[in-house]
Amino acid sequence: MITELKQYTAKEICEGFVYNELEGKGLFGLNGKLTIQPEYQRNYIYAESKRDEAVIESMLKNYPLGLIYFNKTDGGQLEVLDGQQRITSIGRFVTSKFAIKMNGMEQYFSGLAKNQQDTILNTTLLVYECEGEEEEIKEWFKTINIVGVPLNEQEKLNAIFSGPFVTLAKEKFSNSMNANLSKWTTYVKGNVKRQEILERALQWVSQSDDVSGYMSQHRYDTNIKELETYFTTVIDWVSSVFSDVEPEMCGLEWGRMYELYHKNAYNPAKVSERVQALMADDFVKDKRGIFEYVLGGEVDKSLLNIRLFEPSVIKSVYAKQTQDAKAAGTSNCPICAACDNNNRTKIWDLKEMDADHVTAWSRGGATDISNCQMLCKTHNRAKGNR
Ligand SMILES: [Zn+2]
Repeated sequence: MITELKQYTAKEICEGFVYNELEGKGLFGLNGKLTIQPEYQRNYIYAESKRDEAVIESMLKNYPLGLIYFNKTDGGQLEVLDGQQRITSIGRFVTSKFAIKMNGMEQYFSGLAKNQQDTILNTTLLVYECEGEEEEIKEWFKTINIVGVPLNEQEKLNAIFSGPFVTLAKEKFSNSMNANLSKWTTYVKGNVKRQEILERALQWVSQSDDVSGYMSQHRYDTNIKELETYFTTVIDWVSSVFSDVEPEMCGLEWGRMYELYHKNAYNPAKVSERVQALMADDFVKDKRGIFEYVLGGEVDKSLLNIRLFEPSVIKSVYAKQTQDAKAAGTSNCPICAACDNNNRTKIWDLKEMDADHVTAWSRGGATDISNCQMLCKTHNRAKGNR
């Protein structure tokens, strides 16, 4: 079977889109060149309308729509092997057969802003065009659509790029008897049998979420040296930098972090001390962000989702500060009060001020009323930037 990766825009696919209202099925696209419902899969059951909306929302947000498979027939015509639901949803939406909810309002395609219409029409669909004997295609279609358990992306890719590389890669990464598996799954999340460890290994080595290019390039390789070495290198790096093993480490983007940070030197004892302190810190809401925060030299606090002051604390600190300031005839922003300009006596509204840690959180300051002061927005920003 010959396979070729192609790209079509949604606009091209929807050219000449024909929809059968009675059967609830899309019939044709690509100006008649594409048959959406080939004869041998007439029993395809469409899911509920929520899936329709989800497809359009993904397009508007530029989320990937997943791979689509066409079968090329002798006459050069195309048939959809996999992706009928998605193509039909796009075609029906573009021809205003259903509306999506936007900001609580029903919106048809024709009512969307021009740029949103363009976003949809210009969305690129990644399509594998397969060419082979009818029996071969039918057999393959059965494989990618096993009843009840649809194959996931990686399983489909393994089928498309079947060959020595995939065989070796599966032996290594999809083998539940592999002695390294328990170490790997400390850091990598996924079901080994569903090819999810292999998928992650391929993503890391190709530094991309779309691993099909890498698989295509290496399809006939008779070794998996690069894949194996890269994966092991990342895992070894993580386990040497972080001597602790935390459940929160599982499933993080270690491949990306390896590329970003592996050239830095770390002292594992110091790293461990900091990780433990942050794990125990109640103000750190996102424990999964701790590892990259430490790798990056504890700069990017947004990774930790630090707990903010409670609204009740903010209100009572504001009330007290404002009362004292009025009594003293100064601004309720302590920094303004010490200035030499017109703001020296300005009383700011609550909405013009922000809560500030008197002692910074990163220096051990607590997020409670004892360490809270209100500053005007300008001064709070200036303090934060120091
Ligand atoms: Zn101020």
